[in-house]
Amino acid sequence: MRLPLLVVVLLSGCAPERPWCEDKAALPELKRCAGCTPTVKEKIVSPDRERSFHIAFVAEGFARDDLPRFENITRTWLFDFTERMDREVPGLTPMLNASWIDFRDLAPDDGFVLGSCATQMRGVHILVDAERMNELVPETLGRFDVIVVVVNTPTRYRENGTLAWYGSRSVVMMNSWSNGNVFAHELGHALFGLHDEYTELESSIERVSTSAASDEDLSARDIAAFFSANVSLNPSSPKFGGERQGVEGAMGYQLGAYRFGEACLMNDGESAMCPVCQKAAEERVRARRSASITNPKCGLRLSPSPSTPGQFDLLVAAFDWDGVKEMRLRTPASAQWTTTPPANSAMASQLFTSVSPPAVGDLFVEAVCVDRKGHETSVRVDLAR
Ligand SMILES: [Zn+2]
Repeated sequence: MRLPLLVVVLLSGCAPERPWCEDKAALPELKRCAGCTPTVKEKIVSPDRERSFHIAFVAEGFARDDLPRFENITRTWLFDFTERMDREVPGLTPMLNASWIDFRDLAPDDGFVLGSCATQMRGVHILVDAERMNELVPETLGRFDVIVVVVNTPTRYRENGTLAWYGSRSVVMMNSWSNGNVFAHELGHALFGLHDEYTELESSIERVSTSAASDEDLSARDIAAFFSANVSLNPSSPKFGGERQGVEGAMGYQLGAYRFGEACLMNDGESAMCPVCQKAAEERVRARRSASITNPKCGLRLSPSPSTPGQFDLLVAAFDWDGVKEMRLRTPASAQWTTTPPANSAMASQLFTSVSPPAVGDLFVEAVCVDRKGHETSVRVDLAR
């Protein structure tokens, strides 16, 4: 049976359709006090706190006297996760730090711990109350890699996890009655930046062609495939290991996106990771442990502009687990290197611009991506006249 798993891609691009709780003002007010910090309990303490992966659990919609159940549920998921990772990604478990955040001191006296509002976005229930979380996040949750929100409401949410490369912190949302397989799948997104390898009925051919009609969606899909180690829009991608062809169906789409094979944590939640995902996870652990010796990933795409004939749209994408420091760009028109610092120090960064072919000579674009450790990768695309 297909597990209800999903990664929410580019949330900012979705408009809320119908709030589950329309009246936000009616929500219980969180107490605000400058000197207050929530209690944080830590469970697995890695000796190297700088390099360990920090996972924080936050209760959402649990009543005060129900908090021990919240802790039990999450400890079971975490136990299952470390057991399977000991087989699939050796070296990860000793680097995990788990914390349980107790917001009781900040919550209303008689209410839920972190009451919230939910909405439907593209048929998927997600939290809209990110603002509310963010109010608490900067000081208290800022040091965590992954924040797992455990939702305990009668509304059926769909579990989801943001991809690790969005920034320095991912958010996973779980239902309180969910299980360790779903939890491990969502951590596949949140810790390793892996994409979904399953397809869905509602993502049929029609849906693919509908999204492809919008450049924005198309770019978002391209970028997601570029950054994720386990999926590609190209069946012969080197990601699948040389000669091997990818299997069609990934990222929710039945057509046009490819994965390594049938069985994988990122496909059904029950299977072990496929070799591609396993390799990506191991690389992530190695990068964190060795403070990264790897060069950033650097990608260029030059395509004819659909709106301005004769011009080309240019997309530069960079990725590094240490964070992208800058992207440098050179074209015949500019001749000089232009440096673009990314909008933030996220692991992934993109740059869109347009270029015109020179009057004489061929069009080329060179890009250099630099990570925060100063490692560089350069890439060049030539377009013969
Ligand atoms: Zn996989």
